[in-house]
Amino acid sequence: MAIVRLEEITRQFDRVPAIENISFEVPDGQFWVLVGPSGCGKSTILRTIAGLESATSGRIYIDNCLVNDIPARDRDVAMVFQNYALYPHMSVADNLAFGLKMRGADRQTQQRQVQAVARSLSLELLLDRKPKQLSGGQQQRVALGRAIAREPKVFLLDEPLSNLDAQLRDDTRAELKQLHQRLGITTIYVTHDQIEAMTLADRIVILDGGRIQQIGDPQTVYTQPANRMVATFIGNPPMNIFSATYHEGHFAIAGQTMPCPGVLRRAIAPSPGQTFDLGLRPEAIAIGSPQSSPPGDLATLTAIVELVEPLGRETLMRLTLPGSPTSFAAIAPGRVQSHPGDRLTVSFDGDRLFVFDRATGSTLY
Ligand code: ATP
Repeated sequence: MAIVRLEEITRQFDRVPAIENISFEVPDGQFWVLVGPSGCGKSTILRTIAGLESATSGRIYIDNCLVNDIPARDRDVAMVFQNYALYPHMSVADNLAFGLKMRGADRQTQQRQVQAVARSLSLELLLDRKPKQLSGGQQQRVALGRAIAREPKVFLLDEPLSNLDAQLRDDTRAELKQLHQRLGITTIYVTHDQIEAMTLADRIVILDGGRIQQIGDPQTVYTQPANRMVATFIGNPPMNIFSATYHEGHFAIAGQTMPCPGVLRRAIAPSPGQTFDLGLRPEAIAIGSPQSSPPGDLATLTAIVELVEPLGRETLMRLTLPGSPTSFAAIAPGRVQSHPGDRLTVSFDGDRLFVFDRATGSTLY
């Protein structure tokens, strides 16, 4: 097991930085997830740790040992890719043993290790099969098993579930989490799927444009996003953003008004005419007026129904404010009897309002 530390890592391609000034330290045995939109630099970070890519500047340490100049095969890390690349002509057992064989482990050690890994990943009955005789999920388990069998110090996983269908993805995700709890190998996992990030991670590193936007545990990045990018990336459906102008204790949003809660006013001291991006998660918007006198800072606005998506336990509503082109989402418990085009009242919960700087996107409140 190992600590992985990156210090100011930058990697340029043709003088264009793919990642810039990346610094973080993954403590021994933790599971960290790198997440962000396509092209944000996740794979480049992982490949740089693996030694498949060299850093243009900065330092990488594995267990306090500077590894910048150590070749990939000597870093004692195992990387699993989304296309898992099993050896097609080898049996599952031989695929699992491959890394050990390359390291010169004797036959007995190989067999013992293959059996142990096969047991922990439920592959025992498949050991004689060739990869093409396996389902996608089974192939993915073999790829993980091949990496585990080597007993690496560090596990690097690059979108390992993205080729699996939805059900298998959920199952394999749960298996991965259990496997990590059992083995406790330091793991860095890349995904663009924020649900995977939220469910698997001890810490999430959110990236955009090659830079770290925030590092935090899942709950913190959800409840205290550092900026608009993080706020809208983490959470499903994403946080709604409304552009608003402040006037005398109120925000004007698409011609309607919402009181600015006192605590918010004191915190950011808005000036008249100042514009902001307001953020409200779908669960902070209720359909209908408040039942009794509004608790806290509830604002009622008029909205037009665009789409109603019943999900069983709850209903996802897509709505617009009259005269505004941007739609927003609300989640209502149970079933909602509404149709596209209906006008209805919605309540915005001012106590759950986020405020972002229009220009920089940073969180003001
Ligand atoms: P995805 O989720 O789509 O895999 P990512 O977040 O993993 O994306 P990277 O693959 O790390 O992103 O790429 C980051 C940036 O670096 C992108 O703009 C990409 O085009 C660029 N890049 C990556 N590898 C190379 C390369 N070998 N040559 C030139 N540019 C590259």
